[in-house]
Amino acid sequence: MCFAREVRMSARNLLLAFLLLTLAGFTNRPARAEEPVPSKALYNTFSDEEEMSMGREAAQDVEKKYTILNDAALEPYLQDVGRRVAEASRRPKLDYHFKVVDTSAVNAFSLPGGYVYVDRGLLDFVGTESELVGVLAHEVGHVVAYHSMNDVARRWLVDRLVYEGQKAGLMSDQQIHDMLQQYGGAALLFVNRKFNREEENEADLLGLYNTERAGWDPEGLVTFLNQLTEFGADRDIVKLLLRRHPLPEERVETLKNELKQHPSPAGLKRNSSAFRRVKEQLKLLPPSPPPPAE
Ligand SMILES: [Zn+2]
Repeated sequence: MCFAREVRMSARNLLLAFLLLTLAGFTNRPARAEEPVPSKALYNTFSDEEEMSMGREAAQDVEKKYTILNDAALEPYLQDVGRRVAEASRRPKLDYHFKVVDTSAVNAFSLPGGYVYVDRGLLDFVGTESELVGVLAHEVGHVVAYHSMNDVARRWLVDRLVYEGQKAGLMSDQQIHDMLQQYGGAALLFVNRKFNREEENEADLLGLYNTERAGWDPEGLVTFLNQLTEFGADRDIVKLLLRRHPLPEERVETLKNELKQHPSPAGLKRNSSAFRRVKEQLKLLPPSPPPPAE
């Protein structure tokens, strides 16, 4: 009896500590016109290696479910631009991968550890290279700020609080596999995950500064979001993106406000001949299939 109460008490204390840590994360908001400092939640005890292993596992899942376009021109182009964005990010040491998913959806998503996927419909949709870079940098921002990883760590900790406490040592690939399966697999956990307003804001601001550091005009993300709003939220090919990344009008306001207070230096890139070649190449491909039914 005594023992049971002790267990309950310690679980309650742990929960309290966990809630305090969660709140601490929210009080640490950056001032405007300043790049956010991404903070790993204190309860997120996963190492970068474990995160990359989780990303690898999730990427295998994703690539079983979706068709990856292995085009000799598109793939190296995306990889090259993406790597330059990633190298200028706040977490440049992760093993980043950028791939094209062959659907007509205007969509992009990232997995922990640095796996970023862009649907072919998004490549068709963007008008300038800086718009594409803005989207890539936003997705890298979700990785940099540990959004999905903090989520997994929170669920994992809550599930084990009473029984095992904190994890000790690195998890094996098998343990990571079991954990992802327990939470419904990578697609459910990461691909369909809806980001909240705080996370969107953080990914946008990280993306803005990241884009600029990598040498592209950060206005690209603004024009992309404006085009999206004009295009219409009810069209099938943009539905998934807008469900996962809500409130484009509000995001535009935040980005514009940031850019007003932090004007970009002159001479940043908006387009390139490589981008124009990619747009020409896209026209030569057979039409992509519609996004898979959910
Ligand atoms: Zn987002």
